[in-house]
Amino acid sequence: MFALLGSCRLELAQGDIAKQQVDAIVNAANDRLAGGGGVDGALHAAAGPSLMQETDQKYPDGCPTGSAVPTGAGKLTAKFVFHAVGPIWRGGQSQESEQLVSAYRTCLDLAVEHHCESIAFPAISTGVYRYPKDLAAELALGTIRDFLLSRQQPKLVRMVLFDGGTYGAFARVLESMLA
Ligand code: ADP
Repeated sequence: MFALLGSCRLELAQGDIAKQQVDAIVNAANDRLAGGGGVDGALHAAAGPSLMQETDQKYPDGCPTGSAVPTGAGKLTAKFVFHAVGPIWRGGQSQESEQLVSAYRTCLDLAVEHHCESIAFPAISTGVYRYPKDLAAELALGTIRDFLLSRQQPKLVRMVLFDGGTYGAFARVLESMLA
């Protein structure tokens, strides 16, 4: 499923974020950039050790929640990995929505800054961080839509959803956004 926003394309795909052929891949990292399971585990496994070496060296203090930092992409075909730190869901009254929006926006800014034509996002915070998928979908897709409409770059933004349930949640939100 996709939406055209001016000359940009926002698309939803079901699959593995580590297999995407795009200029920048977004990681769902933790604030210590310490590695983990889920998206983080899949990306580090596919990219090789250079990713962790680079985050250790460049970002010894980690990355604050709601932000993101760039590295090279090791053995991945992408040019960059943007390590984004989404919020842990604590019920919705602890700045979670602002932090989630800010994580997406920082990655989009990094994509423009690094001249990336295409970027792939996982559904940040919807795994072990337990952000409700429908709420995360509204914030993620709304933030991407607003950014593309105002900036007209990057040309392709792909949300890569791992399972059918998450794909369904994002597809429902995108559909209502287009209606
Ligand atoms: P977070 O800690 O931000 O919640 P997770 O990696 O635990 O990050 O999960 C984020 C989302 O990514 C979840 O919806 C999870 O199902 C999904 N996911 C897990 N592995 C992959 C993968 N290899 N590719 C794409 N999405 C994945």
